[in-house]
Amino acid sequence: MREAIIPMSESEARQPLPSVPVFTTEFSGEDDEPPGKPRRHPLWANVPDHQWNDWRWQSQNSIRSVRQLRNLLTFSPEELEAIGQLEGDYKLAIAPYYFSLINPNDPDDPIRRQSVPSPLEAQNPSGYELEDPLEEDLDSPVPGLTHRYPDRALLVTTHVCSMYCRFCTRKRATMVRGGWDAISRDDQRMIDYVAAHPEIRDVIISGGDPLTLPTAKLRFFLENLAALPHIDVIRIGTRVPVTLPMRLFDSELVELLSSVNKVWIQTHFNHPREITPESAQVVRSLIRGGMPVNNHTVLLKGVNDSLDTMRKLMRGLLRIKVRPYYIFHCDPVIGAGHFRTSVWKGLEIMEGLRGHMSGLGIPTYVVDSPHGGGKIPLMPNYLVSMSDDAVVLRNYEGMMVRYQAQDQPATIATTKTRGVSSLIQGTQSKLVPEQNERMARRQAFREQAEAEAEYGCSDHTGCGSSQPESHSRFAVTLPMISDVAETRSAPADKTMESRTIGSEPPRLVPLSFPTAPPEGEVA
Ligand code: SF4
Repeated sequence: MREAIIPMSESEARQPLPSVPVFTTEFSGEDDEPPGKPRRHPLWANVPDHQWNDWRWQSQNSIRSVRQLRNLLTFSPEELEAIGQLEGDYKLAIAPYYFSLINPNDPDDPIRRQSVPSPLEAQNPSGYELEDPLEEDLDSPVPGLTHRYPDRALLVTTHVCSMYCRFCTRKRATMVRGGWDAISRDDQRMIDYVAAHPEIRDVIISGGDPLTLPTAKLRFFLENLAALPHIDVIRIGTRVPVTLPMRLFDSELVELLSSVNKVWIQTHFNHPREITPESAQVVRSLIRGGMPVNNHTVLLKGVNDSLDTMRKLMRGLLRIKVRPYYIFHCDPVIGAGHFRTSVWKGLEIMEGLRGHMSGLGIPTYVVDSPHGGGKIPLMPNYLVSMSDDAVVLRNYEGMMVRYQAQDQPATIATTKTRGVSSLIQGTQSKLVPEQNERMARRQAFREQAEAEAEYGCSDHTGCGSSQPESHSRFAVTLPMISDVAETRSAPADKTMESRTIGSEPPRLVPLSFPTAPPEGEVA
């Protein structure tokens, strides 16, 4: 694939850019569940499908200058001036396909924020943001290769991307004009290094985007690496399925990837609107070609820093059979400070994912450590307390349980106590929050079973009762026991959710529950 960059001249980059009338358009379908419907900005409405679906046409017609952008999106004169200045430093490329995902009426659109330069890129108030925040270059024995973890190596094989993400960690290589000329200077040295290190089992070929390489060059990397017996996995890190899926409409490329048995694909979807029929189509062809497809997402302020967006994204990925793998905290790279959230935001999102949706859709949230410390996983705290005998764990509902790793007599003397301490002591085994929906369902199931046993039916169609709600499945008023638990020595009592034998009497809390279980809560 030829690098289709159309460089700006210096004078063009520096001239003030006057405002011009903007090409406006309606934008609908915002709330569609991904993969939604295909989108095309009216500017390209008359482009024949065979051209629209050709990655070469998309690449040649990519938006690569502020002069093009100002005709398509609204900017203040100050913004235009600032991003015109930045253009001399950083590359810009947005294929018509990806541009069509932008809502042009929203200056804070999440697709726009990822792809269109912002004046905020010029800021680095404290100097905390760095060119190489992960110190990859310091772990680089060969230009373009980073060897950090014991059994993995990263190969940066090109500085070209189909879209230049404004938050890119590796922008020193990809976006900076005339950037990292070391890349691809000596491809054979990278292969030789991997060959000489049998401890390397997993090679990540990453960005720049390796799927922008000419197919013959990609073949060189894949076939040489696959021929090494100690290599089990070759990961292709790519945003092409997100920003230019047409590249993977090319059967020669898919056949190459498929022919190398060790290839895994690592995609990079950040927002549910990026999951389109086109991206779903290329994921299908990759999976059909035998490649597992995993995704990493970067947590980005104004793009996906909400639980609602992240749930929609993870569910959309599962729908197209992409496994959510990582949420990366945004790295402190120069010019990306405005994308960075607090770490608490990441934990807040993880708290709202785990337990609330399928475990298949739960990525690992990681901070890539400064000073080259590598990925450090973070999650909400599920370990509440501990003793010699047991740990106290909590689940996503806030229920706390005593958990003994081994079935052995207690070694600690029990003391009159309550709450979490009582779980540690072993005088209680669980604490259940009030109004727990799962417990309500259990109670409803139990009432249904009792009704069936007593009347031979659960909805009175058999018994003819005039009060069907009296034992309909979810319309129940039932006692709940809160803040009490069954002791280890208590006899089993199947009719009670839990009970206390000891000094503290159970506190019964009557609750009413909805006539149907909340959406998505039934296992
Ligand atoms: S595709 Fe990847 S390497 Fe390229 S600019 Fe985006 S994040 Fe950076």
